[in-house]
Amino acid sequence: MARNFTRAQRLLMLRKSGYCCANCGVNLTLDNFAADHRIPYSKGGATQAWNGQALCITCNSQKGDKWEGLSNGDR
Ligand SMILES: [Zn+2]
Repeated sequence: MARNFTRAQRLLMLRKSGYCCANCGVNLTLDNFAADHRIPYSKGGATQAWNGQALCITCNSQKGDKWEGLSNGDR
């Protein structure tokens, strides 16, 4: 399975998150957000919108694989 989300999946994740970072709440646009795997890809997480969340670039770069399971609200 591909690791990268498609543009359509990214858009869906951004909408689901209310155009805000799932961690810090900063406003996001398609140009400045990172599509993140809730269950990390390296741990078998699917590249599907339900396993995705929108993070800002800063939060995503700080995350790595450390936040597994942090946000599991809206399956
Ligand atoms: Zn953030």
